[in-house]
Amino acid sequence: MSAPSHPTRAPGIWDVIVVGAGPAGATAARVAAENGCTTLLLERATIPRYKTCGGGLIGASLAALPPGLSLKVYDTARRFTFAHNGHKERTLDSSSPTCAMVYRSELDAALTEAAAAAGAEVRDGTALTTLEQRGDTVSVRTNRGDTLRARAVVGADGSASRVSRYVGVQCAQVDLALEVEVPVDERTADRWRGRALMEWGPLPGSFGWVFPKGDVCTAGVVAARGNPVALRAYKEDFLTRHGLIGPRPLHDTGHLTRCRRPDSPVARGRVLVAGDAAALVDHWSREGISYALRSGDLAGRAASRVVGADEPGARAAADDYGRRINDVLGAEMRASSSLMALFARNPALVHTALTRVPPAWHRLDAYIAGRTSVAGIMTTPLARTAAAVAGRLPASRRGSGRPGRVS
Ligand SMILES: Cc1cc2nc3c(=O)[nH]c(=O)nc-3n(C[C@H](O)[C@H](O)[C@H](O)COP(=O)(O)OP(=O)(O)OC[C@H]3O[C@@H](n4cnc5c(N)ncnc54)[C@H](O)[C@@H]3O)c2cc1C
Repeated sequence: MSAPSHPTRAPGIWDVIVVGAGPAGATAARVAAENGCTTLLLERATIPRYKTCGGGLIGASLAALPPGLSLKVYDTARRFTFAHNGHKERTLDSSSPTCAMVYRSELDAALTEAAAAAGAEVRDGTALTTLEQRGDTVSVRTNRGDTLRARAVVGADGSASRVSRYVGVQCAQVDLALEVEVPVDERTADRWRGRALMEWGPLPGSFGWVFPKGDVCTAGVVAARGNPVALRAYKEDFLTRHGLIGPRPLHDTGHLTRCRRPDSPVARGRVLVAGDAAALVDHWSREGISYALRSGDLAGRAASRVVGADEPGARAAADDYGRRINDVLGAEMRASSSLMALFARNPALVHTALTRVPPAWHRLDAYIAGRTSVAGIMTTPLARTAAAVAGRLPASRRGSGRPGRVS
């Protein structure tokens, strides 16, 4: 890649500082370094670090990984079992098995290594505490007591992001996910090998999942934040029903997922946000790795443009970043918000369509494989008809009858 000119490069000032070494930050750092920027990647934890996540990579995520990335895949979902509140279970075959099951500690460490190989300096055990902008310089203070300076900053510090608060990211949907990673015996491993499960749950907009990883299963539940007692009860019930409650979990954690409002900012001056920090997550599936990788790539490119620019140029680069996020990822999120609204109002309808109307499964299967997007699903005549039918149903026939809390 061609290196941009850096008329403002000065000693002691980085071109780009990236905060957070998840998929968004590691990608932004790699891309900025590939663009010729002096790049520093800060990570609060020690790498490799654990991250609460199913570790399921759909086609869009796999397509956004850097070429040649060395990554161990523990299983690939060839079949998907769908259920509604523990009933009406149906297992469907994937036409081109794609969804790869990985450990996030390994994926994120591999992406960070790729950033380092491109020339980024990586400092783990180093957390941003505050940041401020003056003129063409952003100052980042860290937990180590030092102040680092850069021409551009990318905040990729996850769903509890400090940089996100600084930028003023606004959310339309905030969920809590509870997840365990459980070692399983050979019989249980055989039962789950090559098969993932999605169960639409009892709380509005909720679901549970089991993802197979050989001798470990990752299983969890997600619902709107605000009812942790009911969510914990659902988790216990879900794990018990699937025989995953006995063994002592390797990890038993919770984590927020956030979806942005369509008009939410993704930049403030020379500071950009990407991935969960920008609240870029699918409203329905809560899939976020493909969003993190793709927005990280866009943020790395935009930050490289901000570096050598004067104030109007930096503003233009940040505005352009916002437009690109809206055009691609924003369009997908708007479609997933519609799907979530349909699902939260009537999970039974979505379940029946998916498991009994073959074109509906074929579309979802194509989305998992990366051949279409959620926007592609929601523009089909079938999805439009389902949305119209759900809109006409009386409240008592719409699942729990309680409104979903989506945008
Ligand atoms: C239970 C659960 C299951 C999920 N399952 C899937 C799935 O199967 N597939 C999928 O695609 N998505 C899934 N997601 C979503 C996915 O995990 C996220 O969207 C994804 O991790 C976002 O990546 P990121 O790089 O933006 O943030 P993160 O992966 O959260 O990385 C942020 C990094 O920033 C660091 N950090 C935080 N604060 C600071 C600071 N102040 N200074 C320095 N560093 C800091 C953190 O330590 C972390 O390493 C799931 C989410 C949850 C909660």
